[in-house]
Amino acid sequence: LFIDHPLVAGQPVPVDGAQAHYLSGVMRLRQGDAVSVFNGRDGEWQATLLDAGKRGGSLSVVAQTAIQQDPPDLWLIFAPIKKARTDFIVEKAAEMGAARIMPVQTDHTNSDRIRQDRLQAHAIEAAEQCGGTIVPPVADLAPLSRVLDGWDPARRILWADESRAGPAATLAGLPQGPWAILIGPEGGFSATERARLARLPFVTPVSLGPRILRADTAAVAALALWQSALGD
Ligand code: SAM
Repeated sequence: LFIDHPLVAGQPVPVDGAQAHYLSGVMRLRQGDAVSVFNGRDGEWQATLLDAGKRGGSLSVVAQTAIQQDPPDLWLIFAPIKKARTDFIVEKAAEMGAARIMPVQTDHTNSDRIRQDRLQAHAIEAAEQCGGTIVPPVADLAPLSRVLDGWDPARRILWADESRAGPAATLAGLPQGPWAILIGPEGGFSATERARLARLPFVTPVSLGPRILRADTAAVAALALWQSALGD
C-alpha cells in the first residue's frame, strides 16, 4: 500500500477513506493484521492495522522489509494520446522503472491537457502492483519546445524515430548514464520538430523495427530496448 507519509518504526501513519475501505472492506483485514507499505522514498515496511473507518484510519509501522531501490536513470517523455492509452503508457513506464514521466505537447498532439493527478495515481497503482518501492513523479504537461530549451545535455535522449526503417536498433555501444526516451504522438513529430531533434547533439534517433507501432506500443518497446542494453 502506498502511504505518502514518512515511515518510521513504531510510528502511526494515517490512511485515507479509500485506503481504509480497501483494507477492511476489500482485503478484509482486522485490527492487528499485517500490511505491507511503501512511500516511494524509504523502502518497504511491514505495518499493522490500527483502525479503519469510513473517513480513514491508521496503521502502526513495525519494521523495514526492503531497502529503497534506486530507479534506473531513465525518464520517459511522450505526447499524450487517447485517455486509456495515455494511462497505459504511464502504468507500463512505472512498472518498468522509469524514474520520471514527462507528458509533452507537440505540434501534432491532440490533447492539450492531462489529468496529472490521475496519471500520478496510475503510477502509484502500478508501483503497488509490481511490488516496487519507486513511484516516478508524473510532470505536468509542458510544450516539447520548452522542455528541449531547458534540457540538461548530460542526459541523453533516445528518440524513437519511425522514419529510420529497418531492424530495431541495438543500443550496445551507447554511453551508460542518464537517458530519456522520447516517443511522438499518433501523428508523429512535425517537420520542424524533426529538424530540431536531428540537430541536437544529445539526441540519438533509433528505430524500433520496420513496422510503425502505435505510440503506446512504441513506449513499451523502447523501454524494453533500453533496459536490455543500458539498464541496470
Ligand atoms: N507519424 C507516423 C505516421 O503517421 O506514419 C506514426 C507515428 S507513431 C504511431 C507514434 C510514435 O511512435 C512515433 O512518433 C515514434 O516516436 C514511435 N514509433 C512508432 N513506430 C516506431 C518505429 N518503428 N521505430 C521508432 N519509433 C517508432
